[in-house]
Amino acid sequence: MTVLVINSGSSSIKYQLIEPDSGTTLAKGLVERIGESTSHLEHEVEGQTFELDQPIEDHAVGLSLVIDMFNTHGPALADAGIRAIGHRVVQGGKYFDKAVLITDEVEQIIENLIPLGPLHNPAHLKGIKVAREMFDVPNIAVFDTAFFQSLPNESATYALNRDVAEKYQIRRYGAHGTSHQFVSGAVTELLGRDDLKQMVLHLGNGASASAVVAGKAVDTSMGLTPLEGLVMGTRTGDIDPAAVFHLSREAGMSTDEIDTLFNKQSGLKGLAGDNDMRQVRALAAAGDPHATEALEVYVHRLLHYIGAYTAVMGGLDAITFTAGAGENDADLRAEVCARLTPFGVKLDLEKNAVRSKEARVISTQDSAVTICVVPTNEELAIARQCMEII
Ligand code: ADP
Repeated sequence: MTVLVINSGSSSIKYQLIEPDSGTTLAKGLVERIGESTSHLEHEVEGQTFELDQPIEDHAVGLSLVIDMFNTHGPALADAGIRAIGHRVVQGGKYFDKAVLITDEVEQIIENLIPLGPLHNPAHLKGIKVAREMFDVPNIAVFDTAFFQSLPNESATYALNRDVAEKYQIRRYGAHGTSHQFVSGAVTELLGRDDLKQMVLHLGNGASASAVVAGKAVDTSMGLTPLEGLVMGTRTGDIDPAAVFHLSREAGMSTDEIDTLFNKQSGLKGLAGDNDMRQVRALAAAGDPHATEALEVYVHRLLHYIGAYTAVMGGLDAITFTAGAGENDADLRAEVCARLTPFGVKLDLEKNAVRSKEARVISTQDSAVTICVVPTNEELAIARQCMEII
């Protein structure tokens, strides 16, 4: 039994064929630069990568070429036992607190939510429409926002004029929910406790923190959109919204220009000139003061959230690092935990230095808070949610 997981972007389709029970990825790939003359398809199976360079005019052509790849290089889709197609959908608004079977009505709601997810939802819809036509199995939408539908009102509500907020559906929806749910669930299993007050730090190119009590999310750093919260690869994270008025009035910048500045030209890239944490670290090690400052701001923001969420939850049992930088950057974990020494946090430096794909504890036995590393796997989480639905 397998699930084909699709993450459809505006000019790309990422896919993975997954066996949800074993967690094995049988094949994965990527179609990129759809609609351009330099489109590219990459299909990876059993350690081999097969590539195709030809103009791919739209998502329908892209997906049919993916099917050809499967049938030529394996695993042949007819024999792959596909039970469902799982689609990642970034914005589910207030309508979805779990994955759903995609019907015409569900498609319509995802379309109605475009104003709240202008970059992502139109792109997801392209993939959904094409997959529903091409495959005769259930198509299921798994929403990034679903896990955060449990946020208490006090955490989801901005102190914005009530009428305006309601009319324009402005509230905290969160994002990366599939990862936060998967990782916090793994920590519950790893520590064998289902009453945990825990924090998950998802530190990839996008970055977010969540507070989870007994399996339910009670706070998260991303808000109306994935711009709010931590310092990210290219996003500001938290910033006084008055910076927008200031740039508009003083610099004469348009809304779109400020949007691009905050989402694509800020964060580590804006502070240090590079969005990749490895590169920023290398620059800092070579004495670049901007890179050093970027790392300091990054850690400071993390500490802000750790302090805030400890107070919100009335305690803290575990902090878990996940995603690219969280899973791989031992120095980052050591720097954050060193700052938590006054609160009884003790990192086991040897365990912290081990590279592994396993979920693991990296704090000492007597640490006041258990520190973990859990590799996230959003595709597997999507595949498993699909199996629950069907
Ligand atoms: P995305 O949000 O694009 O899914 P990932 O979770 O793959 O991102 O994380 C990508 C980021 O992880 C990279 O930009 C890089 O900053 C960081 N990263 C990956 N490996 C390391 C490493 N060994 N040390 C520090 N940072 C790393």
